Amino acid sequence: MGPLQIKEILQTAPEQQSVVIKGWVRTKRESKNAIFIALNDGSTIHNIQAVAEPGQFSAELLQTVTTGSCLKITGKLVESLGSGQSVEVKIEDILVYGTADPDAYPLQPKKHSLEFLREIAHLRPRTNTFSAILRIRHTLAFAVHQYFNDKGFFYLHTPIITASDAEGAGEMFRVTTLDLNKLPRTDEGAINFKEDFFGREANLTVSGQLEGELGAMALSKIYTFGPTFRAENSNTTRHLAEFWMIEPEMAFFELEDNMDLAEDFVKTVIGYALENCKDDLNFLQNRLAEEDKNKPQNERSIPLLEKLSFVVDNPFERLTYTEAIDILLKSKPHKEKKFQYPVGWGIDLSSEHERYLVEKHFKKPVILTNYPREIKSFYMKLDEDGKTVRAMDVLFPGIGEIIGGSQREDNYDKLLERVHEVGIDPQTIWWYLETRKFGTSPHSGFGLGFERLVLFVTGMGNIRDVIPFPRYPKSAEF
Ligand code: ATP
Ligand code: MN
Repeated sequence: MGPLQIKEILQTAPEQQSVVIKGWVRTKRESKNAIFIALNDGSTIHNIQAVAEPGQFSAELLQTVTTGSCLKITGKLVESLGSGQSVEVKIEDILVYGTADPDAYPLQPKKHSLEFLREIAHLRPRTNTFSAILRIRHTLAFAVHQYFNDKGFFYLHTPIITASDAEGAGEMFRVTTLDLNKLPRTDEGAINFKEDFFGREANLTVSGQLEGELGAMALSKIYTFGPTFRAENSNTTRHLAEFWMIEPEMAFFELEDNMDLAEDFVKTVIGYALENCKDDLNFLQNRLAEEDKNKPQNERSIPLLEKLSFVVDNPFERLTYTEAIDILLKSKPHKEKKFQYPVGWGIDLSSEHERYLVEKHFKKPVILTNYPREIKSFYMKLDEDGKTVRAMDVLFPGIGEIIGGSQREDNYDKLLERVHEVGIDPQTIWWYLETRKFGTSPHSGFGLGFERLVLFVTGMGNIRDVIPFPRYPKSAEF
C-alpha cells in the first residue's frame, strides 16, 4: 500500500533495482562531478541521498529543487560510496510536486532557535529535532496502550465536556453556546445557564478521574488517555493549557499496589522507547551534548540515554511526605536560607523542594506518600491518624511531579464529610458519591501528564516543544 518509505528503502540491499522515493528536500549540494539531494519523508531521522550527474537535468528544473520543496524521484538503488549511508539513489527522473521559494521558506539548513520554531509550528515538524520528538511521542503513546492492554486494563473514554467542577485540579475553560453579547439573565440578574446548551454550566475537563472511578467500579481496571484542559495562567516550562493525561483507575488496589503499578508503568514505557527509538534518541542526545558544550563542566547534563537507562534500571526511592520534610529541614539550602519558599510540615512542596529531593539528595526518582490532607484533593483516602491522606506523587529529575495519585476514599460518610469541608455541593457529584453507596471497594489510581513523560524522555527543556501545537496563555494560533 502506497510507496515504500525512506526508512524501508534505507534498509534494502542495493541491487540496481528501480525505486521511487518521495519526500522533502533537506539539502541540495552541487559539486563538479555530481548533484546530491538529501530527501526526508519523516519516516526516520535519516535522509536518503539521491545523486544526479551534472547536465542530466535542466538548470530550470534544478533551480526548483531547493530546501523544503517536495519531490518524487525515480531511480536505481545502488551502494553508496560516500560515508554516512550504505545506499543511495541514482536519479533517473525528478518530479517536483511542490516548490519552496528559498527567499520565503523559513526553514533553511542552519540552526534555528526553539523559540523561533514555536512561531512556525506549522513547519517545525519538518526539522530533525521535531520529527524525532513526534516519532518518540507516538512510540510512547503506543507503549502506553500496549502496557495497559497487556495488563488487563480497559481503555475508557471519559467525557471532555463536563458539568462538574469537583476535581478542583485547576481553573476551567467554559463551554457555552450563549451569545456573549446578549446573555440571558435570571430575575436576580445572574447569567441564566438554564438557557445554555446543556441547561447548566459546562466546562472542558481537567481530569477524567471521577468518571474513571465509575468505570473501575465495574470493569476493575481501566485507564483513560485523553486531552485535559487547565486555564492556569502559569507561564512555566512544565504547564500547558491543553495536555494529554493518562489516568489508570483500579478496583482492589491499595496505595502500595498503586505505587508498584506507577513505577512499573513508567519504567516499561521508557524502556520501550529506549528499545524502539534508538536513532531519534541518539540524535537528541547529540543535540543536547552540542548545547552543553558551551556550559561549564559541572552544569552539563548526564547523556540522555544514560539518564533513561538509569531510571529503568533502578528502584525509585519511596518515603513519606513527613520524612521528606525532615530531610528538607536538615538540608544545606534550608540552613543557608537558599530556598525561595519556606519549609515546614504542612507546606505544599514547591518544585525547588521536589528537585532538591530528587536531584541532590536521592539522585533518582522519588515517590512521596501520605501528604497532609489540607493540601490534597477531597477524594483521597484518609490515613488512620486523620491528618494525612494516602496520596502518592512520583517526582522525576528535571521535571518535578510527573505523576499524582492516591488510594481513593471508599467510605461514604468520610467522603461526604470531605466534600462539605472543601465546599463542593454534593448535588453536583451525586453520581460519584453513589459509587460509595453501592458496592464500594478499596481502589486507587493516578494521573500521568503525557507531555511531562515526553519531556523527560526527549530531554527537551520546555513542554511547549513536545506537543505538536501547544496551547498556552495568548497562544492558540495553529
Ligand atoms: P503541578 O503541581 O505540577 O501543577 P498538579 O498537582 O496540578 O501538577 P495533577 O492535578 O495531580 O497535577 O495532575 C496529574 C498530572 O498531570 C501531573 O502529575 C502532571 O504530570 C500533569 N499535569 C498537571 N497539570 C499540567 C499542565 N498544566 N500541563 C501539563 N501537564 C500537567
Ligand atoms: Mn497544577
